[in-house]
Amino acid sequence: MPRPKRQASNKKSLAPPVTVTKQRLLTRTRDLEALLAIAQTATQSLDIEKILNDTLDKSLEILGFDVGFIRVLDLAKMGMVVRAVRGLRSPEFLAGIAPVHSDRLNVTRIVFESKEPYVCADIRKNPIYKNRSMEREGVISTAAAPVMSKSRVLGIIVLGSRKHHRFAQSEINLLTAFGSQLGAALENAQLYEQVNKSKAYIENLVENAGDAIISTDMEHRILTWNRAAEVIFGYAKEEAIGQSLAILLPSGQLKELVELAEKVQIAGVLHNLEVRRKRKGNSVIDVGLAVSPIFDQDQTIAGFLHLAKDITEKKRFEKRLKELDKMKSDFVSNVSHELRTPLTAIKGSVDNMLDGIIGPLNEKQVRYLVRIKSNVDRLARLINDLLDLSRIEAGKIDLNPTYLPLLSLIQEAAESIRPIAAEKLISIETVYPDAGVKAWADRDKVIQVVTNLIGNAVKFAPAHSEVTVRFEPDGDEWVRISIADMGPGIPPGEADNVFDKFYQVAQVNRQKVRGTGLGLAICKALVEMHGGKIWVESDVGHGSSFSFTLPARQPFKLKAPSD
Ligand code: ADP
Repeated sequence: MPRPKRQASNKKSLAPPVTVTKQRLLTRTRDLEALLAIAQTATQSLDIEKILNDTLDKSLEILGFDVGFIRVLDLAKMGMVVRAVRGLRSPEFLAGIAPVHSDRLNVTRIVFESKEPYVCADIRKNPIYKNRSMEREGVISTAAAPVMSKSRVLGIIVLGSRKHHRFAQSEINLLTAFGSQLGAALENAQLYEQVNKSKAYIENLVENAGDAIISTDMEHRILTWNRAAEVIFGYAKEEAIGQSLAILLPSGQLKELVELAEKVQIAGVLHNLEVRRKRKGNSVIDVGLAVSPIFDQDQTIAGFLHLAKDITEKKRFEKRLKELDKMKSDFVSNVSHELRTPLTAIKGSVDNMLDGIIGPLNEKQVRYLVRIKSNVDRLARLINDLLDLSRIEAGKIDLNPTYLPLLSLIQEAAESIRPIAAEKLISIETVYPDAGVKAWADRDKVIQVVTNLIGNAVKFAPAHSEVTVRFEPDGDEWVRISIADMGPGIPPGEADNVFDKFYQVAQVNRQKVRGTGLGLAICKALVEMHGGKIWVESDVGHGSSFSFTLPARQPFKLKAPSD
């Protein structure tokens, strides 16, 4: 083992000053060379094991020791773990974790806390080495330095000698410098390892995602293609990568990629698109699609990310549901038609009897016939409502929207209810901030909704009260019509339910009023056909206010991406 310091000091006492300077220069040059050698070794690789082993070998070679090891901080384990060892016959004693925050003083903890080297010329006399393992290996002198980066201790490097050795300051300085070189290299490699781990994690996520994840460049050439894409579209990764995404487009839809790209560039991410795509072998499937831009470092669009899900089954299911729904509506409308004919005959006969056409009636007969007439009327109303609703639900009703002046429309609806209102001495008022407000809607349907709501208000309100119909703009895009009464109100928990088919509020209907429970469901369907909303606000015991919105103007037609 070279002993540079001793040689230097020997010469210092004998040689003239010029030689001393020269010797110093030589030592300095040799130190710098050593440092360079270590720096080169440490930065040669990004493989942590290789960095640690090569650096340890080079340090032992330069400083001329025969025993050495490196411990690296493992934060999860709150200690340091040996990652490279040289020159020990049975290094197993180093296998455990050297805690950095233990109560017991040990070299690892001293170096970790002080961030300074720790040198011991004779470990046999130092109580810190009391477990004697190193001593049993014949090691007498040791020097440990922190492996540091940016003033954080990442590990320690320990060199040892089986001969008694008093460490020179220059050796300690050099070992400390080696520790710093190693620290920088280790940090780089750890970062690289972390980046690689995150990359592998994300690649794994993408690869095993349930949805097809496909990235392309700006020319729609496929760059990545995960396993779900293989399953959904039938092309293996090797077949797909490098091809144009146009391989998935059914004929006649080839323009779609260009249109999608334009839309992504304007709107950013496109969600919830439903498109048709061609599998390998030309079968066509329905696909739910989201497309987003991929940006490069300059924030310019470098390509596109397509997330696709096979929704063929879902579509098939929806189609079947629609068919079943239509069958149900057809059934209801057939049955209703069939019921209407005998009902008309019964109603005609009862009316004739009540008019005395078949002869005089006694009081009891009149009472019975009036009850029959009222129930037949109710049944006829129910059938009409059912027919209406089934036609709306089956999409059999078309809207013919025009610009409707609301004032005259509301007055017309109010007029038709006024006779019933007059019987209960209820007045119907119309209020508005602007008489000229118009809605873009179907006249007959809006009359039906307003008549129904005023009819309910009159039906449920007490005698001598007031029903108010108000209309006004609601922002730029909508108009709002509200019908308020002074009736029993609707409990908060039931406010949404009243728009369900056949729902009736027990508290409200207990008193007397018998209806079909379909009026509000029809109103809701008609309002929603226009794109509007309907809701009720209520103060139990004091009244309800039913409101709905309609478009104030003709909407723009947006072209769907697959058009
Ligand atoms: P119907 O009036 O024929 O029962 P609707 O669908 O029009 O059917 O109304 C459903 C239920 O909502 C009514 O039975 C009643 O319980 C409640 N309701 C509707 N309008 C009012 C109102 N203005 N005030 C209090 N309750 C109402």
